[in-house]
Amino acid sequence: MAIELRSDTFTQPTPGMLQAMMAAPVGDDVFGEDPTVNELENLLARQFGMEAGLFCPSGTMTNQIGIKMHTQPGDDVICDQLSHVYQYEGGGIAVNSACSVTLLQGNRGRITAPQVAAAIQPDDVHKPHSSLVVLENTSNRGGGACYNFAYIEAIKELCVANGLKLHLDGARLWNALVAKQETPAQYGRVFDSISVCLSKGMGTPVGSVLLGTAADIKKARRIRKVLGGGMRQAGYLAAAGIYAVNNHLPLLAKDHAHAAAVAQVLQSKSWVKEVLPVETNILIFNTTDAMPAAKLVLQLQELDVRCLAISSQSIRFVFHLGVSDADTDTLCDILQQMPA
Ligand SMILES: *Cc1c(COP(=O)(O)O)cnc(C)c1O
Repeated sequence: MAIELRSDTFTQPTPGMLQAMMAAPVGDDVFGEDPTVNELENLLARQFGMEAGLFCPSGTMTNQIGIKMHTQPGDDVICDQLSHVYQYEGGGIAVNSACSVTLLQGNRGRITAPQVAAAIQPDDVHKPHSSLVVLENTSNRGGGACYNFAYIEAIKELCVANGLKLHLDGARLWNALVAKQETPAQYGRVFDSISVCLSKGMGTPVGSVLLGTAADIKKARRIRKVLGGGMRQAGYLAAAGIYAVNNHLPLLAKDHAHAAAVAQVLQSKSWVKEVLPVETNILIFNTTDAMPAAKLVLQLQELDVRCLAISSQSIRFVFHLGVSDADTDTLCDILQQMPA
């Protein structure tokens, strides 16, 4: 079997997860009557200390609903230039919310309070109204970089002082919590809404949850319906999420260790120009001119290793549930045996 490093979305459900899915009691969730969906939403709301949750088919949907519920058409959204909400959601901020965006040049996807302060528009009829800041933790295009929590708190203070809402794209928030030894509750206290993905490192087939106040989630439920995201017996999918929170969360630290071990091997290769610091399960490295990323991808593919070129000279490896200790050893051997 190939070693799959293109994304942590390639995981297959584990046997225990499949069993939990098959055994789930279900109902019609559009009527609010799927007990397993309700259980997942309540479980995560409780863990994050937030009032309510909403199960959705994708993280794109939970982000887009979060943005729409905090904004009015013509508002301006502030985020980092690498943000998933801007780069990889099909222009959804414009399509769904009719908002403009101010992009900040952060450090590996992470922005600071002074940058946000400089981006907030003055109260002037010529200007769009700044109403929302979106942060991403961990940062995907930042190579799995984590925020220092004090920086988030400083941004929150600024948002409160200026009447802006704060949304978190937490597609890989659990990776950050593990890496930085933080708690869900501290995030729940600071953010107005949080999107978490169950289909990344947590290993479920489908699903993300949007967390927020009861009033906001009521609004969100209406927006989800408009977007076509109201699902019926979705408890089969929610059951995978409950199983993942209880059983896969403790395994994330392994993925981080695997990424760090492979990074160390790459450091010794002459065709590697720079390995970005590895903080979680994503490893990004830049290759020298002699080794275009596309060429390395093909070479590794011949050796049954699948990975992504994210630019002409950079490669991304993502570690997850489907990459075992043995796979990581094999990968290290393969890289060691390649020409120095
Ligand atoms: C994967 C991801 C999402 C959500 O993606 P979907 O494929 O729509 O579930 C959102 N933000 C980040 C940073 C991601 O990596």
